[in-house]
Amino acid sequence: MCGGTLNGAAKQRGGERFSGATTDSRRAASGQLFIPLAGERFDGHEYAAECFERGAAIALWQQDRLVPDELSAMPLVFVPDTLAALQKLAASYRRQLPVKIVGITGSNGKTTTKDLAAAVLAVRFRVHKTEGNLNNHIGLPLTILAMDETVDYAVLEMGMSGFGEISLLTRIAQPQIALITNIGDAHLLQLGSREGITKAKLEIAEGITPGGVLLINGDEPLLTGTTGQITLAEDVRVQTFGFGESCDWRAEPVSIGVQSSAFRLRSAVEGTAGSVMLELPVPGRHNISNAAAAAAAGRLCGLTEEQIAAGLAGVRLTGMRIESLRAFNGATLLNDAYNANPTAVRAAISLVSELSGFNRKWLVLADMLELGPEEQQLHYEIGAMLRPGAVDRLLTYGPLSWHTAEGAKPRLGEENVRHFEDKAALNDYLREQLRSEDLVLVKGSRGMRMEETVQALER
Ligand code: ATP
Ligand code: MG
Repeated sequence: MCGGTLNGAAKQRGGERFSGATTDSRRAASGQLFIPLAGERFDGHEYAAECFERGAAIALWQQDRLVPDELSAMPLVFVPDTLAALQKLAASYRRQLPVKIVGITGSNGKTTTKDLAAAVLAVRFRVHKTEGNLNNHIGLPLTILAMDETVDYAVLEMGMSGFGEISLLTRIAQPQIALITNIGDAHLLQLGSREGITKAKLEIAEGITPGGVLLINGDEPLLTGTTGQITLAEDVRVQTFGFGESCDWRAEPVSIGVQSSAFRLRSAVEGTAGSVMLELPVPGRHNISNAAAAAAAGRLCGLTEEQIAAGLAGVRLTGMRIESLRAFNGATLLNDAYNANPTAVRAAISLVSELSGFNRKWLVLADMLELGPEEQQLHYEIGAMLRPGAVDRLLTYGPLSWHTAEGAKPRLGEENVRHFEDKAALNDYLREQLRSEDLVLVKGSRGMRMEETVQALER
């Protein structure tokens, strides 16, 4: 399955079974396959002996590595490259499983949509999904290897930072449904333009199996305008979801709150045509879009409208994606500290501007990283889109965010914008200023560690 050759010990034990695979020696369990990967700082081969002591049944071994004496009697499979072998193994294993796969990519909202789609499908099926954010060339194959033949549906997140990566993942996973949440500006640095990002995301279509569906964000002209140019397997349909009137799966927001939202989903797709009211215990307009995509995927997998409604109502999201918390002093704190890029920040701003019933609305924005040469301008533009009423106060943190503050000053007024280079000073200022009727949303790139501010504000 992975194109390897058995060593003597492995041949002698031919016919024996092993179950499960891991690349993490600390997690190697009895009877498993150990796949040593060579990273920048660690080489998994050095931990193979330890894995056998823990009861590993067999290990892959990269041919260019010398086998130490202590391992010569252990069952090994020689391969040219252990990472490529992991991917081959997963691809081959996937083809033996009866599972149907929903693959999800996009600039923002992959993990959220993955969790929503899995929650929906779990109402009726046995579902396996990407754990946390393990969405890359290692995490995805491992996620596939972790399923057994009893799984009906797997919902797999596919991440990327350059061309060819989604292509690799989708060819391994062979999804029945491939979903693109949106096109943003994350990874602009590596892909050059939003057209480049679109092209990279559309690679997901390469793996769709005959009769499958490519489900794209219908509110993104770059996507709707490009699907005509790509090659699809036999009978693969392209469908759209979103807010626009022409979307096949159209979401009409009914209410958008801090804790939850409600929307009506209208389907124009033959066989599922109709409409249903859906409630979602997650805030923000962007999550309605994610939920519409998840609901559409659910309908395409044969779920009823009632099952979709039940699945969405009971959803729990992977941590740190817009959580509503109570801050000290009784203020409402929206923790969106997991990550940031221009699209995600615009979504956060639109969320804050749609929420009413607060005395003052605060936005705390830290730097958006990895944006390439336009980074200062992109920060300035975020600031410049703020309007009084939508947001009352802006606090910024980090050298790039200085530009956000500059962009905001002419709109919000100098007195309502404050820039910090020191996080502790920012936290102290917020603790001093926040009152019970206030709302504060905290957001920044992962590397900015804005959860520290969230922690400082939590009661
Ligand atoms: P990553 O690339 O880190 O895996 P992801 O694509 O999995 O990210 P999520 O973890 O689901 O995305 O969400 C991250 C942030 O992106 C959220 O906190 C939110 O601010 C924003 N976001 C989520 N969905 C959307 C959307 N549909 N449109 C715009 N922004 C969104
Ligand atoms: Mg993710």
